[in-house]
Amino acid sequence: MVQVKLADSAGFCFGVKRAVDETLKIQKDLNKKIYTLGPLIHNNDVVNFLEQNNIFAISLEDLDQLTEEDTVVIRSHGVSKEVIDKIKDRGIKLVNATCPYVTNIQKKVNKYSDEGYKIVILGDKNHPEVIGINGWCGNNAIITSKGNIEEEIPGKVCVVSQTTEKQENWKRTINNVAELSKEFLAFNTICSATEVRQLSADNLSKEVDVMLVIGGKNSSNTTKLFQICSANCKNTYHIENIKDIDIEEIKKMSPKTVGVTAGASTPDWIITEVLDLLKTI
Ligand code: SF4
Repeated sequence: MVQVKLADSAGFCFGVKRAVDETLKIQKDLNKKIYTLGPLIHNNDVVNFLEQNNIFAISLEDLDQLTEEDTVVIRSHGVSKEVIDKIKDRGIKLVNATCPYVTNIQKKVNKYSDEGYKIVILGDKNHPEVIGINGWCGNNAIITSKGNIEEEIPGKVCVVSQTTEKQENWKRTINNVAELSKEFLAFNTICSATEVRQLSADNLSKEVDVMLVIGGKNSSNTTKLFQICSANCKNTYHIENIKDIDIEEIKKMSPKTVGVTAGASTPDWIITEVLDLLKTI
C-alpha cells in the first residue's frame, strides 16, 4: 500500500481563512447577496461554494452599478487607496478583509513615499496585491519581478516585497539596490506562511516518489510550490481538485510514497478528498 504524506504546512493561510470566514459571516448577518471585489481567493471550487452562499465576485467596473444598499468585500490581496476612496465616495458598504500583513506593506509604502523615498516592489506587476500596494504610493513604484533593476534610482529608496516572493529574489533585489543607491530602507515583507509552506513542500518533495500540489492554476503561491517540488521530484503534478488526478497513471509508477501539499487558497475539504482518494491506491 502506498504511503501518503501531507506536508506539515499546507492549505489556507491565516489571511485567506480570515477573509473567507469574515465574508461568510457578513453574508449570514445581512442575509442577502453581497459582493467581493475580484474572486475572494484563487480557487474555482471555493468561488462556486461562495456563489451558492450568495457571495459573488465583481470587477472594478461593476462598482458603478452598486448602490448604498450594497456591500462589497475587499479580499486578502488588498486594493489601492483610490479604490477604497471610490467605494466610500459612492456610499457602498465596505468590508475590508485585506490581510493585516498586506495592510502593513501598504502603510509602509504610503508613509515612506510621502517622506520622499522612491518605492521598489519585488513582485509581479500584474498581481492584484502588487497593483494594490503600488496604489498606496501614487502608482510610482519601480516593480521588479526577479530583483534586476534597469532604472536609475534617485535619492532615498524603500524596498518591500510581494508577500509570496522567494527569499532568493529578495536577496538579489537588496544586492542590486545596494549597488545602485546610497541610502535605502528594506522591509522583508515576504509572509512567513509562504516561507513555512515552501520549506515543508521542499522537504517533503525530496523524499517522495510522486508529489501532488493542490491549488488554483492561476494562484501564484501554488505555482511557486509546484516549481519548488518539480525541482526535487520529477513526478510532480499541479492539480485543482480530485478530478485532475489520473489515478491509473500514478498506479503505473508503483510509488512507495506520495506527497501532498496545497497552496494558501486551497480549503481543507479539497485536501481531504485528495488524501482519501490516494489512500485507495
Ligand atoms: S500568504 Fe500571508 S500575507 Fe498572504 S494572505 Fe496569507 S497570511 Fe496574508
